Amino acid sequence: MSKMKAVVKTKPAPGAEIIEIDMPKPGPDAVMVKVLATSICGTDLHIFEWNEWARSRIKNLPQVMGHELCGEIVELGRNVKNLKKGTIISAETHIACGHCLLCHTGNAHICVNGSIFGVDIDGVFAEYAVVPASNAWVLDEKIPKDYASIMEPLGNAVHTVLAGDITGQNVLVTGCGPIGLMSIAVARICGATQIFATEINDYRIELAGKVGADCVLNPKTDDIVNHIKKETDGLGVDVVLEMSGNPEAIRQAFQALRPGGRYSILGIPDEPMEIDLGKDIIFKYATVQGINGRLMFSTWYKTSRFLSSGRLDLEPIITHRLPLVEYEKGMELMKTGNCGKILLYP
Ligand code: NAD
Ligand code: ZN
Repeated sequence: MSKMKAVVKTKPAPGAEIIEIDMPKPGPDAVMVKVLATSICGTDLHIFEWNEWARSRIKNLPQVMGHELCGEIVELGRNVKNLKKGTIISAETHIACGHCLLCHTGNAHICVNGSIFGVDIDGVFAEYAVVPASNAWVLDEKIPKDYASIMEPLGNAVHTVLAGDITGQNVLVTGCGPIGLMSIAVARICGATQIFATEINDYRIELAGKVGADCVLNPKTDDIVNHIKKETDGLGVDVVLEMSGNPEAIRQAFQALRPGGRYSILGIPDEPMEIDLGKDIIFKYATVQGINGRLMFSTWYKTSRFLSSGRLDLEPIITHRLPLVEYEKGMELMKTGNCGKILLYP
């Protein structure tokens, strides 16, 4: 059997190894791709560092890491009729069962029987990977190839930004990691009028300005709530897009939200946290919504059109391009936060 190089989580401990493993074989409903580019997500860092979440969630070691993908189809499973060899794809990383209540009602992204690449099954930090045909997203020719790899996190941003009114709205984005930065860029082209952002890392504060935030505040030095209220007629922003997962940022953003506003939360706190339900949600008449993954596949259509129109510039957000063998350097960069999106090339 032919072999390939892959970044594999071999042991239930911090770190990972780049080793030679057997090439995967596509099942009847899957395709095999040559991985042209992949990118590092915060989840990969959690698995690499083997934090508490990873220890409780990852069951099937050894496992190939990674889930964000740009691949060229090199082999088709025997039932796959709608795809061709040579086609460049991205991949929806939530694999849905297709027959539960959620899948049947337009909510496949929260399928109760779902699994995720690089979390529940082998991922894509490898020379080759297998993708269910129903999860393959054919890349529009107008989009730069390696952007396919970041369409998945970009889809998180698009899903969150478009989960309510955005045009003509004042917006606060809390946390300017890669997805927060993408959210700023998407909100900008969707006609948000005033975009505030908060971030504690100087490198990312600078990036937030580059992708279109009007005002970037640092909770370490700025009085965020007062500043935002002053600039919004004393009311607060119409929309909060929570992209930090930080409990302080989450609580503060409720204070910066105007009565009757929308609060969409993508960021994931590490632990359970308290909020003042009466003051922050009920009397404020706030609409609070959790956002998970991407809508299958309406988010993908929108994400693809934003990119192919040329209106969404992701270049400032892609700060590093490294060979896959330097994945450890990528993980180190992610840990410092002195980066945007990091692409890896096998
Ligand atoms: P990230 O960790 O790179 O970014 C979070 C940013 O928040 C960092 O830049 C950090 O410096 C900043 N931050 C920390 N404390 C802050 C504070 N008090 N105020 C303002 N900013 C602060 O993460 P990411 O990859 O950009 O993803 C964003 C969030 O979304 C993460 O929490 C991630 O776990 C979550 N996520 C959720 C889903 C989902 O489906 N719900 C999918 C992907 C990611
Ligand atoms: Zn399902």
